[in-house]
Amino acid sequence: MPRKKLMAANWKMYKTPDQTRDFFRDFLPLAAEHDRDEIVVCPPYIDLQAALEAAKGSKVAIGGQNLHWEKEGAFTGEVAAGMLLAIGCTHVIIGHSERRQYFAESDDTVNLKLKTALEAGLTPIVCVGEVLEEREAGLTEDVLRRQCLRAFHKVSTKKVGRLVIAYEPVWAIGTGKTATPQLASQAHSLIRGEAAKTFGQQFADNLRILYGGSVKPENAKALMAEEEIDGALVGGASLEPKSFMAIVKY
Ligand code: PEP
Repeated sequence: MPRKKLMAANWKMYKTPDQTRDFFRDFLPLAAEHDRDEIVVCPPYIDLQAALEAAKGSKVAIGGQNLHWEKEGAFTGEVAAGMLLAIGCTHVIIGHSERRQYFAESDDTVNLKLKTALEAGLTPIVCVGEVLEEREAGLTEDVLRRQCLRAFHKVSTKKVGRLVIAYEPVWAIGTGKTATPQLASQAHSLIRGEAAKTFGQQFADNLRILYGGSVKPENAKALMAEEEIDGALVGGASLEPKSFMAIVKY
């Protein structure tokens, strides 16, 4: 059975609730006929309610861009898995490189967040990827292995069912540089291999691994044609309904 692609929009820190409603007003008619792929939009927290209301009854799911691993507590500025679930979110991005780079996200916190998201029944999209210096130093494989191993630490095969991985080479995010389909495929195979070691071959065969990093309508077709690439995590090009749909359709 081919893996169902997941096309995910990461809006980062863009759009107000009104702009969110405008997006869905234009995007939903474009996506209405589309059921080949799972589509999820991850807006800023402040827009989640507007997105959920706008997307109600459609095939578009809504997710958070982050979560805290505790159920509740004195963690100013943070959001818990139960809060995302309570309003109707189904997905959550974990360990995005911007969280790692600017907000001290580590492999250990990614692991805690992954366990929490799985326990809560959210679909976690765990981001991994090397920075330019690591690629140039020939360390890409080591970095991806380490990030996967540490993310998967003490995650049981029984509970990992909904895990999704996004391979996002950091040098390709928001830079206009995209990994070639071949280079992305190699990284995806390696990640799938790590998942097989931890969770078994059957799980790995069904695991969806998304590519992210300057995916645009112009390069999406070639990337999505790769057998190893099971969808995309799209930043900049997901902010505009037509350009996100132009990617989803591949
Ligand atoms: C991202 O935010 O995950 C991303 C890949 O951004 P962009 O598509 O803008 O490179």
